[in-house]
Amino acid sequence: MCDSHTRAPGAAEPTRRLFLRTAGASAIAAAGAGLLPANVAKAAQDAAPPKPQNAISPDAAVQRLMDGNARYVSGASTCHDFTHEREALSGGQNPYAAILGCADSRIAPEYAFDSARGDLFVARVAGNFVNDDVLGSLEYAVAVLKAPAILVLGHEKCGAVSAAVKAAAGATYPGMIQSLVTAMQPSIEKAKAGKGKGDLLEAATAQNVRDSMAALHARSAIIQDAVKAGKLKIVGGVYRLATGKVDLLG
Ligand SMILES: [Zn+2]
Repeated sequence: MCDSHTRAPGAAEPTRRLFLRTAGASAIAAAGAGLLPANVAKAAQDAAPPKPQNAISPDAAVQRLMDGNARYVSGASTCHDFTHEREALSGGQNPYAAILGCADSRIAPEYAFDSARGDLFVARVAGNFVNDDVLGSLEYAVAVLKAPAILVLGHEKCGAVSAAVKAAAGATYPGMIQSLVTAMQPSIEKAKAGKGKGDLLEAATAQNVRDSMAALHARSAIIQDAVKAGKLKIVGGVYRLATGKVDLLG
């Protein structure tokens, strides 16, 4: 479980001191809130980030996610100093990764990747698919917070994907649930066409992740530019419920 002597990765000293002596944190918060003109917001972002250990390359960010997941799976999760982190992060944020995950209560990204507050920018919607609000949230993470990685995280036995599979066979749902499952229909149809002898829900879950990754890129010039500049990597994975392991999609 939690080792009280273990520091979060990259935290060489108590985070409170690290944050309090970091200039620009409040300016970054103001920039994020849209209170500063673009040139000032850029200057704020160019200032030292509130969590220097989070300013890493896209590949390093993905590796950090996987290393954190390995600790979580093995029961060696880090103890986090919530009291000091809370105060230190009041001035800004620079997460090392953004995640598009399902709203499912069993999938908790901060636990699954053994990360602290201020580390992960998480957008969650049942079925982890891309809609306008999700896209805008992740564009913010990339353009303003400079997150170097986006992970689209599906999971086993997803109720939303399962409902979308049933909708493809004619099931209907009340309220806005129907629009949610309708949004995933293209992924379900692709999975049905290509699944062979495999499990349809498993195939649809992976296809939905791949389609969400593609949609993030196809629908956003902000994301395209960041990828082209080598500042952003988009990856996809599936969370295994019984073990907690995240398998990246190849
Ligand atoms: Zn789900």
